[in-house]
Amino acid sequence: MIIVMRHSSTDEEIQAVVDRLDERGFGAHVSRGAERTVIGAIGAQEAEKAALADSLKRLPGVEQVVPILKPYKIVSRESHPEAGRVRFGSAEIGGPKVAMIAGPCTIENREMLLETAQAVKAAGASVLRGGAFKPRTSPYDFQGLGEEGLQYLAEAREATGLPILTEARDVQHIEPVARIADAIQIGARNMQNYEVLRAAGQSGKPVLLKRNFSATVEEWLKAAEYIAASGNLDIVLCERGIRTFESAMRNTLDLSAVYVAKRETYLPVVVDPSHATGDFRAVPPMALAAIAAGADGLLIEVHPNPVEALCDGPQQLTPKRFEGLMDEVRKVAEAVGREA
Ligand code: PEP
Ligand code: MN
Repeated sequence: MIIVMRHSSTDEEIQAVVDRLDERGFGAHVSRGAERTVIGAIGAQEAEKAALADSLKRLPGVEQVVPILKPYKIVSRESHPEAGRVRFGSAEIGGPKVAMIAGPCTIENREMLLETAQAVKAAGASVLRGGAFKPRTSPYDFQGLGEEGLQYLAEAREATGLPILTEARDVQHIEPVARIADAIQIGARNMQNYEVLRAAGQSGKPVLLKRNFSATVEEWLKAAEYIAASGNLDIVLCERGIRTFESAMRNTLDLSAVYVAKRETYLPVVVDPSHATGDFRAVPPMALAAIAAGADGLLIEVHPNPVEALCDGPQQLTPKRFEGLMDEVRKVAEAVGREA
């Protein structure tokens, strides 16, 4: 079983839980995250679990005691029956409003980022995205501006008020990204990079976890559990298409994963139709389908001039197309009892 401590729990309260486990003959694995501490009880015997859980729940500083039934325990619906809400700065993901995360694939320079940020803000986006540390399939492709790009993101937030989301591709990127961004993106290629997951979990910032293109939903949820087990419950899942035998699109958008992830966990789920399809023309229909399927938000790549983009040009929307998509998203959101 897992004992999740409150935000405000003290060292003494954590020690008291460890001592209680010790008294009852159990080991304790303590994960101290920046946000909260999570304690795993090791060696719990089935027969003794209920009584132990009961006694732990009454200790000060304990938020919840989660029995181990699913392989992903902390993030499971069993442990949080209510759907969760996660904040990326001023934006809420998982509430009645569909969150629109938009921006360029890659921050190419200061001007294009500021221009895109202003445009997506004017159209109604709630979060600005943009890659500074890019995971490129070829080593010869543009790898991103790195820390310089983070500075431009901070400037764009200053200019627009939009919270910012950007990817950390490596453990060493977590600290600079967490220092500047409102939320950390873990990309598809790093979904099972356990050191990156742990470091993001300990960063104190919310995390958007993309599904790897070859991962089952269960593997994706176990990856989220790594972040949660490191003390960070502010996780948003992102479906971005998987590899199948179908080759008509860049990937196959798996909308059933939205349903399964929301049924199995309390985590908000967003959909990225840009990487899922690889084609700007397919982005609007898949975006609308995602909202209808219950997604809590969308991640859309927008570029002032996609033809000239250094990365993912064919799938990026122009600001004008994004504005048009927003109008459609509002209609579908309203039809399913939400807003955008
Ligand atoms: C991205 O969103 O910038 C990205 C690289 O996507 P993915 O990790 O899903 O390929
Ligand atoms: Mn991209």
